[in-house]
Amino acid sequence: MSKDPKLAHRPWLDPEAEPYIKIQGITKRFGDFTAVDNVDLDIYKGELFCWLGGSGCGKSTLLRMLAGFETPTAGKIFIDGVEMNDIPAYERPVNMMFQSYALFPHMTVEKNIAYGLVRDGLDKATIQSKVEEIIDMVELTQFSKRKPHQLSGGQRQRVALARALVKQPKVLLLDEPLGALDKRLREQTQYELMNIQDQLGVTFIVVTHDQEEAMTLSTRIAIMDKGKFIQTGTPTEIYETPDSRFIANFIGSANIFEGHVVESGKEHVLVRSTRDQSLFYIDHGSDLQENAKVWVAIRPEKIKISKSPPEQSDHNQLIGTVDDIGYLGKLSNYKVLLDNGKIIDITYPNQVRPKSGDHLVDWEEKVYLSWDASSAVVLTH
Ligand code: ATP
Repeated sequence: MSKDPKLAHRPWLDPEAEPYIKIQGITKRFGDFTAVDNVDLDIYKGELFCWLGGSGCGKSTLLRMLAGFETPTAGKIFIDGVEMNDIPAYERPVNMMFQSYALFPHMTVEKNIAYGLVRDGLDKATIQSKVEEIIDMVELTQFSKRKPHQLSGGQRQRVALARALVKQPKVLLLDEPLGALDKRLREQTQYELMNIQDQLGVTFIVVTHDQEEAMTLSTRIAIMDKGKFIQTGTPTEIYETPDSRFIANFIGSANIFEGHVVESGKEHVLVRSTRDQSLFYIDHGSDLQENAKVWVAIRPEKIKISKSPPEQSDHNQLIGTVDDIGYLGKLSNYKVLLDNGKIIDITYPNQVRPKSGDHLVDWEEKVYLSWDASSAVVLTH
């Protein structure tokens, strides 16, 4: 681990850190269909890494190749410096927790958890102490004599997690681990999962299609589309600096304006929108050519909405009328219709309790929109 405390939790920034899992040029074809397409990825020890992507993008196939249940068509996988390609699943230092949990219905919680250790031929006393320790960690001690059908979905999920962890794998692979849980339980279990991972220091790779889950859990996220990773970064990097329109819309939502570069410098980019010639000033530098076609993305919560005009400026301002208001409790969503017909989404936190029926602005009201020069991102595709 790095001596620099800042790098200890961000080993991917440490040029001296060695990746724990190395995926090199991995491809998987089924007939003439390419499910995973020449993927490279480094994952560091102790990371909780999420692969996020829509249905069928190849996440599970890649996970199964890491576990050894599927053979790559091309490429190599290394774990802790050892090439895995010729090592069978049962000899790999990984364990996999499946979507369906696959618990044995006729066995009690403790027998389910002990199963792998019994099969490995460990002695009774060792098994008992390992099982007790892990049952305590996942807070299932009082349920240890129950069978799976006598448990809630969240409790069953924790049994599956305990069963996967009791063998102390170096890497735990989790395929949609919280998919079967309702929203409330899922949120609670996300934190439990993070705590357990933190306590054990095991490297977790989680496959999910749930972006909120990925944002909450991960040290880093790799976004997958059509068998490729299209952006990798921390949740903040992915959210704040998406590098394509696809990602800007896939993670959260974004208002996207098509335009052309008017000026491009070391510290700013000026873009004129194609639709209505409004100007967007962005305070990050770029090496874009003048006149290049680009898109400016602005997150709904970065836009200020006001009844009175903001300070006079020739950029980062729009005028429209309120078309719709959605009150969601902790926040409100506003849809503002611009003169050019485009709808802008704005999200506002409800920090002050409004009087009944009262909103920041009202339906059909003329409003002024503005945002900080640091709030927009310029995208080239
Ligand atoms: P989901 O979130 O729906 O589970 P995923 O991203 O995990 O999706 P995979 O299960 O990896 O997707 O599948 C990727 C693609 O490969 C899909 O189009 C799938 O139909 C195809 N595929 C997976 N396994 C096989 C197989 N054994 N034979 C043929 N095609 C397969």
